[in-house]
Order: sequence, then C-alpha cells, then structure tokens
Amino acid sequence: MISEKAIDNLLILLIKNQPILIITHENPDGDALGAIFGLKSFLDNMGLLSSIYLHSSLPIQYRELMGAIKHSYMESLEEIAPQYKSLVFLDMADLSRSGLNNRHAYLKDKIIFNIDHHVSNTNFGEFNFVDTNWSSTCEGLARIFMFNKQGTGKDLFLPEVADLFLLGILTDTGYFSYPNVTEKTMETVGFLLRCGASISRVNLRVRENMTDGQFRAWGYALLHSNTDAKHGLIWSSIPNNVYNSLRLGEGDTEGIVEFFRNRKNCKLAILFKEIKPGSIRISLRSKGSIDVNQLASNWGGGGHPQAAGFTLKGELKSIEEEVLDFLRRHTCK
Ligand code: 5GP
Ligand code: MN
Repeated sequence: MISEKAIDNLLILLIKNQPILIITHENPDGDALGAIFGLKSFLDNMGLLSSIYLHSSLPIQYRELMGAIKHSYMESLEEIAPQYKSLVFLDMADLSRSGLNNRHAYLKDKIIFNIDHHVSNTNFGEFNFVDTNWSSTCEGLARIFMFNKQGTGKDLFLPEVADLFLLGILTDTGYFSYPNVTEKTMETVGFLLRCGASISRVNLRVRENMTDGQFRAWGYALLHSNTDAKHGLIWSSIPNNVYNSLRLGEGDTEGIVEFFRNRKNCKLAILFKEIKPGSIRISLRSKGSIDVNQLASNWGGGGHPQAAGFTLKGELKSIEEEVLDFLRRHTCK
C-alpha cells in the first residue's frame, strides 16, 4: 500500500528530475500503453520534459487511440539514456522484462521510478510506487495524480489523457469483469469520466476495431482449442506458421486467452504462442483460486495471481506437453 505522503511526492520528484524517459515492458498490452502514453501526455500538459521509449512497434489496435498523441520512439536505450535524468518504468515487474540486455549500463546515475501493480514486482527502483490493490498501472497513475495536493478537479486530465488511463483499467479488468475491480477502481473511473473519458469511445476504437488477421487468429485458436475436464484446463496453441501466414504480431492475439475463461468449468486457460520459431510465449489465466503468478515463476515468469506469463525456448509440441503435465500435477490434486 502506498502512503499518501509518497503519492504527494511523485509530481514534485518528477519536476525536479527532468528530462524524464518513460519505459514499459516488451510486447506492451493496453495497460502498459495507456500508462506510458497517458503519463507522457499528462506531463506534456504540465510543461514537463519527457519522452517515451518503446522497443516494439505499437500494436495495431491501439494506434487510433494513441495516434493523436505526439511521442517519440528511440532506437537504442543505451544510446539515448544519457540524455535523461530519470527513468520511469511503468507496469514492469522487473528489469529483465525491459527486453534489453542484462547489464543495465543505461541505469547508471539515473533516478529510477517504478510504478506498477504486479505482485511479482521486485521493487527495483529508487522510488517504488507499487500497489497490488490497483487493478492496473493506469488506475495507480490516475490515483497518484488525483490525490496529489496540487491536483485540481475535473480539469486535471484532458479527455485524451483520461481515455488513455481508462484504456488500461478496461483492458486489465476485462472491461470491469475480473475480481481486481474494486470500489476504488470505479471511483477512479468516475473521476476519469468527469475529466471527459468515454468507455464507449475507448471500446469502439480499441476492441471493436479488429483486423482480419486478428479475427482469423481468434478463429484458429478457438477451433484448435482443447479441454481437460478433469483438471478444468482449456488451452490452444498458435504455431509460428499461423503467425506468418496471417502476418500477426504478439499484440494481435491479445484477448484470446481471456476469452477462454468463458468456457464452462474452466479453471485455468492457457495459450501457447510461437511468435518466433522456437520461442514460445505462454499466457496463463486463472478463473478460480489457482495462483498463476506462482505457477509461472516455476519457469522464470510472473504476473498476477489470475494472469501471468512466461517464455520457453524449444519445440512447440514438447513445451505444450511439459507445461500441461506440470499444470495437471500442481493445480488439481
Ligand atoms: P501475458 O500473458 O498477457 O503476456 O501476461 C499476463 C501478465 O503477466 C501481465 O501482467 C504481464 O506483465 C505478466 N507477465 C507476462 N510474462 C511475464 C514474465 O515473463 N515475467 C513476469 N514477471 N511477468 C510476466
Ligand atoms: Mn498491468
């Protein structure tokens, strides 16, 4: 839990430590993108100097919402970091998820801010704003600024900033349907709506805006899904040739594993994604009491109790068998 005093200090610390570089994890999702673009726009409006570092291309479904916002992408963080006084990491549980090399030479002499809601967060920053009660990093960011004593009323966020923070809340809560939704989440959403955010606008621009490739990827995953009724498992695999033939990036398969939760008697949903040949991203979603953060940690991954992931190198079929075998043994005894 973050104290109000710490919350009070974030803006003051950022003002003192410009210019600011804003970073999130590789293969960013709606929360990660809403957080970095929302913070960047908010800081722009406050007259602070900041840039975004994004090491993968922006998933297509987010381009409409983020298109209006001025931002910059950098080629190499090692090259550009020296120009910045502070680095703000958002929605990133640990530095190994930065997608960068492990030497972290770019961190030298930097003020590190770590703003996140993952239970597996390692508190790697000099200033850690980590609260697992936040549904999303976007909820946390919005709350930090809402409760900042310098914050004002509904003029605090411009509608486009409020939309971006709302996006992260919507995507990380499954549009308000997961147990991570709290009274505070809804209080935050109420505030964002007062600032001009719109649930239907975000939904229209992001969710109801699927490409043909995304549609077919969903169809493929659903058609090839398997169930194990005894253990409450549902899973599917998307091999690399499907990614290639449909010209998909990782962002194009977002939402599929969450949809698997809809299946009756599902306790654990699993999606195996061979985005690059021989490199399998595994997404786990729990519908009951199974702690998938703990399960993912067995393979060096992490996340939240109900949504976690990890990456394994090897052949798709054998990884599928290894993971399913482990899950059967460790989930339903
Ligand atoms: P996804 O399955 O959508 O990639 O990730 C689900 C959740 O787990 C997200 O909150 C994501 O940040 C986290 N996550 C995914 N992969 C990893 C990983 O390798 N390590 C850690 N610590 N967290 C991960
Ligand atoms: Mn998140």
